[in-house]
Amino acid sequence: VPAYRTAEIIAVGSELLTPYRLDTNSLFLTERLNEVGITVRAKVVVGDDHNALADAIRAALGRADIVITTGGLGPTADDLTREVAADVLGCPLEEDPQILQAIKVRFERRGLPMPAMNRRQAMVPARATPLANPHGTAPGLLMESEGHLLVLLPGPPRELQPMFGSHVMPRLASATEGRCLARRVVKVTGRSESQVDEIAHPIYSGLGDSDVVVSTTILAAPGQIELHLSAAGTVRSRLDVVLDEGVARLADALGPFVFSVDGRSLEQVVGDALRDRSWHVAVAESCTGGLLLTRLTDVPGSSAWVTGGVVAYANSVKTGELGVPLSLIEAHGAVSEPVAEAMAEGVRRLLGAEAGVGITGIAGPEGGTRDKPVGTVVIAVAAGRAAVRTHSFLGNRDVVRRFATTAALDMLRRALA
Ligand code: ATP
Ligand code: MG
Repeated sequence: VPAYRTAEIIAVGSELLTPYRLDTNSLFLTERLNEVGITVRAKVVVGDDHNALADAIRAALGRADIVITTGGLGPTADDLTREVAADVLGCPLEEDPQILQAIKVRFERRGLPMPAMNRRQAMVPARATPLANPHGTAPGLLMESEGHLLVLLPGPPRELQPMFGSHVMPRLASATEGRCLARRVVKVTGRSESQVDEIAHPIYSGLGDSDVVVSTTILAAPGQIELHLSAAGTVRSRLDVVLDEGVARLADALGPFVFSVDGRSLEQVVGDALRDRSWHVAVAESCTGGLLLTRLTDVPGSSAWVTGGVVAYANSVKTGELGVPLSLIEAHGAVSEPVAEAMAEGVRRLLGAEAGVGITGIAGPEGGTRDKPVGTVVIAVAAGRAAVRTHSFLGNRDVVRRFATTAALDMLRRALA
């Protein structure tokens, strides 16, 4: 069995070259390949074009141990991957009677005759090993060429993912000379990328030894920084020891700004903290227009800890539904700490929850003043440790809203801690 160390991925489909469709298959494949110690060296998106695809496959086979294509295995004329792969490897297409039979049966089960065009999907390169597709008609195909592996997978993720897991992974795992890779993610909020790196760099740069190679990446999103650590080596338990120690030291140095070391999202961490207390949360949102409630309810099972919310955009909703005294708004303005506190307390009472959150701010682009420029957002939490804070976020409307909801989730997390 040849040793596979490197891979390249080719995502096939003209729709992937438009702004409307994103290639996500390569992300899935990269994650799974990394798990068995295979590095993705390059990936490319090509349209449904014979020459472009042929060039891409040929070039990738010249560089990488494994080349994986996704898409273009369907029955229509623009699905070219089979033909092109056969061309590149110089082996003719032949009709595979077993594949043809499987496709016919699939149509019969739905009470339909097989359309003539689906016969194309049974035409496979003579030397290829078909990979069964229980979730669609197109089988995947696996071919070898001078020690390199060429794998053709269907485009739809729900077909590709199980096929890769049951038919491709086992072959790769047995051909990686026992090399393996482990990963950890440390998630941080309330600190900037440079602040995090200043503290984290001395720690992660010293991780690992001659047997365990550790690499680190920092990913930043509005209000959130992720440190991704990956360790490569040959002994799984050694990788885990090195990474666990690294994560513990990072968590210690970064302190309460770390909200997750086990992959959970901030929404999930907050949800778990509420569930542990058997508490419910209710939210009153002005400038975020319901985004906080959306994020809280993105978590499956969140009905166990989310009561609901009020989008109090107009002052009349703040005073009416939430019972914020008009005098408070007149004295301090709608974007102020007393109003945010009254919103949090008001929605908590109105919806009968143990915890309440109030958000009021100026998301822009208009509405800013000298005292309260665009990006000023006041967030209050009424529960356990009550808290209120005025934030100044930088960015456009979307970014300010995103920052605001992340900060609100984090204040809630800390109030529950
Ligand atoms: P089908 O038999 O469904 O035509 P196929 O193998 O020919 O399968 P494509 O026609 O290329 O696959 O893609 C079918 C659908 O799969 C696309 O419309 C898209 O929704 C999804 N898809 C294709 N490629 C990708 C990709 N790289 N990442 C995510 N989704 C993809
Ligand atoms: Mg197709």
